[in-house]
Amino acid sequence: LPDGYQPSSDLLADKIILVTGAGDGIGRTAAMTFAAHGATVILLGRTMSKLEQVYDAIEAAGHKQPAIYPMNLEGATEKDYRDMCDTLNEEFGQLDGILHNASELGDRTTIRDYTADTWKRLMQVNVNAPFMMTQALLPLLEKPEHAAIVFTGSSVGRQGRAYWGAYAASKAAQENIMQTLADELEGVTGIRANSINPGATRTAMRAVAYPAENPNELKTPEDHMPLYLYLMGQDSRDITGQCFNAQ
Ligand code: NDP
Repeated sequence: LPDGYQPSSDLLADKIILVTGAGDGIGRTAAMTFAAHGATVILLGRTMSKLEQVYDAIEAAGHKQPAIYPMNLEGATEKDYRDMCDTLNEEFGQLDGILHNASELGDRTTIRDYTADTWKRLMQVNVNAPFMMTQALLPLLEKPEHAAIVFTGSSVGRQGRAYWGAYAASKAAQENIMQTLADELEGVTGIRANSINPGATRTAMRAVAYPAENPNELKTPEDHMPLYLYLMGQDSRDITGQCFNAQ
C-alpha cells in the first residue's frame, strides 16, 4: 500500500461489487466502506437478519442502494452459481469486483483428530465456493474495462501451524487459486486478482479462535479498509497476483 494512501471518496463510483460474508466482521465493514466510496454492493451471506442490518445501515448513510443475495456457500452448487450469474446480469449487466471474504474456521485440533466431515465442509465453503463463484461470474467481470477480485488469506495459509487443520489448508488454496487466476487473466482481460491477509482482527471469528485474548488490543476491520479499497479500485491498476498483509 502506498505510504499515506488516501482513497478518493468516489473511488468506486458506478462500480458493482459483490462481498461474500457481508453480514458480519470484516465483510460487513468492507461492504459499508465500498458503499461509502460510491459502489453498489451486493451483500452475500447466509444469515438474512445480519444482511438486512447492513443493508439498512448503508441506506441510512445515504449511499447507493445495495442488494442482498442470500446464499449458504456450504450447500451451493454449480447451478446456483450459474443462476447467480443470470440474476446479476439481469439486475446489473456487469460486475466490477468480488471480495471473497466469507470463510469458516472449523475445528482447532490436530490432523489426527480432524473429522473428515468438517474438513470437507471447510473445503466446500472456503475453497470450492470461491472457485465455482469466480468461474461462473467471469463473464460478468469481463464486461467492464477493469475488474478486481480480492481473496482472503491468513498467516496459517502461508505457513501451516498446529491445530489449524482445514482452515490453514483452505487459506493456502485460496491464495494459490488467486495466483493461478491472476496469471491466466493478465493481458487477456482487464480482471486483476490479489489477496489480503487481514492478520489478527477484532471479529467474532477471532474471538472463537483466541477466546482468552483481549479483543480491545486488536486492530479493527476499519483499520484495514485503505488496503481493501486500494485493491478493489483502480489505484492498484497495475497490481495483480500479489498477496498483501493488512498489518
Ligand atoms: P466472521 O466470522 O466475523 O465473518 C465471516 C462471515 O462469513 C460471516 O458473515 C459469516 O456468516 C460468513 N460465512 C461463513 N460461512 C458462510 C457460509 N457457509 N455461507 C455464507 N456465508 C458464510 O469472520 P472475519 O470477519 O473475522 O473473517 C473474514 C475473513 O478474514 C475470513 O476469510 C477469515 O478467514 C479472514 N481472516 C480473519 C482474521 C481475523 O483475525 N479476524 C485473520 C486472518 C484471516 P454468518 O454471519 O452468518 O456467520
